[in-house]
Amino acid sequence: MAQLDVRQKLEILADAAKYDASCASSGTAKRNSKDGKGIGSTEGMGICHAYAPDGRCISLLKILLTNSCIFDCHYCINRKSSNVRRARFTAQEVVNLTLSFYRRNYIEGLFLSSGIIRSPDYTMEQIVEVARSLREDHQFRGYIHLKTIPDADPELVRLAGLHADRVSINVELPTAGGLKRLAPEKDGARIEGAMRDMKRAIIDTGDARQRYRSAPRFAPAGQSTQMIVGADAATDGDIVARASTLYDRFGLRRVYYSAFSPIPDASTVLPLQRPPLMREHRLYQSDWLMRFYGFQPQEVVAATDATTGMLPLDIDPKLAWALKFRDRFPVDVNRAPREMLWRIPGLGTKAVARILSARRWRRLRLDDIARLTVSVAKVRPFIVTDDWRPVLLADRGDISALVAPKAATRQLELFAA
Ligand code: SF4
Repeated sequence: MAQLDVRQKLEILADAAKYDASCASSGTAKRNSKDGKGIGSTEGMGICHAYAPDGRCISLLKILLTNSCIFDCHYCINRKSSNVRRARFTAQEVVNLTLSFYRRNYIEGLFLSSGIIRSPDYTMEQIVEVARSLREDHQFRGYIHLKTIPDADPELVRLAGLHADRVSINVELPTAGGLKRLAPEKDGARIEGAMRDMKRAIIDTGDARQRYRSAPRFAPAGQSTQMIVGADAATDGDIVARASTLYDRFGLRRVYYSAFSPIPDASTVLPLQRPPLMREHRLYQSDWLMRFYGFQPQEVVAATDATTGMLPLDIDPKLAWALKFRDRFPVDVNRAPREMLWRIPGLGTKAVARILSARRWRRLRLDDIARLTVSVAKVRPFIVTDDWRPVLLADRGDISALVAPKAATRQLELFAA
């Protein structure tokens, strides 16, 4: 490997980390000021944003320890057979970078992942050493998110959890068949075993801290994972079902979805095109429905197209569900339980909380609902108020045209109000 200075390594290893979706601000137009005109960049890698357990948005230095790897996962630009420039930080270099960026107020924490070098244990030791040194040698109190290596010794993973705020391990693909085909050296059972161990350690240390405040913390911000979307034949229905199982079994805080991006010199087993970014967005929306809107996974799956198993791209999954189950509407906002109010397209959880609070004192009219939502026209077909009753949805042939969002307002649709 050619001798590189820290700046060159940073360029390579920050760029190589961009494929991890655990914190992402992707999807915007490409702009930069490298030509000396203007300031700012939407392309630069290295600093990303994540949400702390208390809801704050924080900036993280997001890098790989190395982009060399002894594995050959087909979808990965850092795989053994890939023809990319390689670089490797020492643990001390990552510590120094983190501290100097922190002191300059560029970042509030570190997101560290890595390719596998020599062995999973050796790599994990290096990752743990970065976190240990930051915490113990430098009393670093900022946020640390560590990606753990699937086959590493559980003791090393435990040490990672003692120093990190969040730990994560990628399940990579939604189905066992997909993993076997595209990442043959990875073992789904071992990945799940590591997630199970982490869940147990998080629960045990949480219990211990209830009794003894001096008990050590273990990954207080929990664990997360990531799935690649569109690299294999898994449908949205498969992905939603898999995400739900992961939340249930391993108590994950988040499942991240990363639309597969074609890579240079790609293997022939990969698709030539990336899936539409909107697909990734729809999956995040369906995830949101399960975590905050009381939807069961089978309800989200029911919103997919029966033939393709895919969520519609032109409307959000909540609206897709409502249009499939028209007989559940209209919903009387003055009487319906919270769970049914959550199912009304265009009403967010905050709007529902306000409806529940307001209706204790008076009966709600259409104007009241209009003040709680971006577009009452979109909500109107689905609700009954004191002064409004729509034509039954089942009787309306024009309903899709009426409620489908225009392009510019699509991002607002689920989280409106
Ligand atoms: S183990 Fe990780 S870094 Fe290595 S090829 Fe597979 S996905 Fe890429």
